[in-house]
Amino acid sequence: MKLKKGAILSNLLTLKIKDASGDLYFPESIDDIVRFSYEFDDFRVISGGSNIVAGKLEKPVLYMGSMIGTSSTEDVSENAVRTFMPAGAPINKVIDYSVKNGLSGLEFMAGIPGTVGGAISGNAAPKDSSWDDVCGSVYYVRKGAVSMFIPEFGYRTLKNAPEAPYVIYGADLILVKDSPENVRKRVLYYLSKRMRITKPSAGSLFKNPDIEPAGSLLEKAGMKGYEVNGACLSPKHANIVINNGGASFDDFCRLKDEAQNRVLKMFNINLELEVKYWYA
Ligand SMILES: Cc1cc2nc3c(=O)[nH]c(=O)nc-3n(C[C@H](O)[C@H](O)[C@H](O)COP(=O)(O)OP(=O)(O)OC[C@H]3O[C@@H](n4cnc5c(N)ncnc54)[C@H](O)[C@@H]3O)c2cc1C
Repeated sequence: MKLKKGAILSNLLTLKIKDASGDLYFPESIDDIVRFSYEFDDFRVISGGSNIVAGKLEKPVLYMGSMIGTSSTEDVSENAVRTFMPAGAPINKVIDYSVKNGLSGLEFMAGIPGTVGGAISGNAAPKDSSWDDVCGSVYYVRKGAVSMFIPEFGYRTLKNAPEAPYVIYGADLILVKDSPENVRKRVLYYLSKRMRITKPSAGSLFKNPDIEPAGSLLEKAGMKGYEVNGACLSPKHANIVINNGGASFDDFCRLKDEAQNRVLKMFNINLELEVKYWYA
């Protein structure tokens, strides 16, 4: 397995944090993942890098952003198929595949960056959607052993995730047969609802508390457009974290702390992070 010691990770993170770096391992097979997870007690997994804030990392980093293995599809009933999808498959490519083959179920992911593995590990979705209806078995490696489970999802969480660190290497998607035209229409519908973000970003910084959306609380707390050396909460939407250029990990930490402190002080609400902050 290839290793890049002290690799610059900025380009693997959609937020382009300038000082992100670490020892980066590139598995080429499931065996590589098994060996890696056996050798290291603790490590990080990075795929599309679209939900991560990181600086200089001490733990080894496993890169899962490329396809290991191939996808395969089989009928499970007259109306549905089961598609095994490698974890590193980019979401946009999976959606293209679904449209082309008239397979419905993942339209809600249109416009969300990242990979199948990253999306499943955090139940990435727009508001009111979830991987519940589309994800069958999830295949993973932990401490040198290969295993699988049936996932249970919650709001931006995989409720029955294996104990960390674990590596998802693929999942069965249960997709419903439809016409390519119908699937395309639904994809376009979801795309039309997405906000255009032109700056490097990691999406929503915080989860929405039950009581009120995080964006609204942050806006009332004066955080819309707030910036620390380039680390910024978007002037268009106060919960979208962006990089105006040159921001470091420390800048994003200060931005997050300021946002959490203000909302706590003003509303007595503890905002919970949606983006993963990696401190080591
Ligand atoms: C512009 C923009 C818009 C976004 N909009 C949304 C949205 O609407 N809804 C939403 O939910 N999210 C959104 N996101 C966040 C992000 O796109 C999703 O969370 C995405 O699914 C993360 O996938 P990834 O491959 O990039 O994961 P990464 O960012 O690489 O990793 C995220 C987490 O998953 C873990 N992980 C990744 N791959 C694996 C694996 N194979 N095995 C085990 N663990 C793994 C990582 O260790 C990390 O903890 C947005 C991000 C951006 C930049």
